Amino acid sequence: MLIVMDKDATPAQIEAVAAKVVALGFEAQPIPGGERVAIAILRNPGPVDPAVFVDMAGVIQAIPVSRPYKLVSREIKREDTIIKLPGLEVGRGRFVVMAGPCAVESETQALTIAERVKAAGAKVFRGGAYKPRTSPYSYQGLGKKGLAILRKVREETGLLIVTEAMDQDSLKLVAESADIIQLGARNMQNFSLLRCAGRTGKPILLKRGMYATLEEWLMAAEYIMSEGDPQVILCERGVRAIGEHARNLLDLATIPAVRRESHLPIVVDPSHAAGRRDLVQPLARAAVAAGCDGLLIEVHHEPEKALSDGAQSLYPEQFEALMQDLAGLRPGGWY
Ligand code: PEP
Ligand code: MN
Repeated sequence: MLIVMDKDATPAQIEAVAAKVVALGFEAQPIPGGERVAIAILRNPGPVDPAVFVDMAGVIQAIPVSRPYKLVSREIKREDTIIKLPGLEVGRGRFVVMAGPCAVESETQALTIAERVKAAGAKVFRGGAYKPRTSPYSYQGLGKKGLAILRKVREETGLLIVTEAMDQDSLKLVAESADIIQLGARNMQNFSLLRCAGRTGKPILLKRGMYATLEEWLMAAEYIMSEGDPQVILCERGVRAIGEHARNLLDLATIPAVRRESHLPIVVDPSHAAGRRDLVQPLARAAVAAGCDGLLIEVHHEPEKALSDGAQSLYPEQFEALMQDLAGLRPGGWY
């Protein structure tokens, strides 16, 4: 349930409503935004009687929430969420491109690619220091050393950093180094990790699990938000599909569907959906045309030597051409 307060409600009236929620044994979470305060009731096992609240001073409405996700839902918050990063905002038409290699391999590799993607218009550098690989014998990432390289990239280029945390140990380290913490497709339903990520207070890029329904994905975001972190960016990266022509099936319908259901920004990763670089440009075009808030794209200056996901990584020249191409689809240009 959402308790909507009058725009002239006093702090004491708001406090009284929150106290009442707590007295009933539930959690009260204030919802930011708009000109009036709203309070979401969380952790109630069943429906809450609106009559308890509607007569309280300063309350104008008690709205039942029909969706299983609450803080994520548009029922609770109508305006689009804007994620505020140093010098950059994501969401509500503020379009951002995050680009870089799948994995950080060396300082030279990361800086070389970072300079190229920056020159082409990317604002955030991506690159994994901790890599979730299908095979335990594949390259696992540089770990702490990779994070130090990412900090250097930020220092030298001014690009913000998004990088993946794979477990609770790496989460702590990633939270200290990254501007945005990526939670990968394979961890989308790692509920204890989601909770811990929600306590870092950092923006979280939550990838869709490769078998996840929209509802499961939004519930995963709810886990993060229920720990008090409102800064979640959803990332569609394709789901398992039949056929060998692409690595995954890019589900473009999630863009309008997420917009309908949630106020959170949605970005698209065409690289992991494609699995091969010749498909990245058309998928990126389609995602932009469908109205996503940004893209996450893998780029490598020597993809044939890449230690991870080389086949889907664009050459820097291809990335430059893609950025120019996409600008035509966004008359307002890039953020
Ligand atoms: C990645 O971004 O390199 C990655 C591993 O992505 P996903 O979790 O979507 O497979
Ligand atoms: Mn990758």
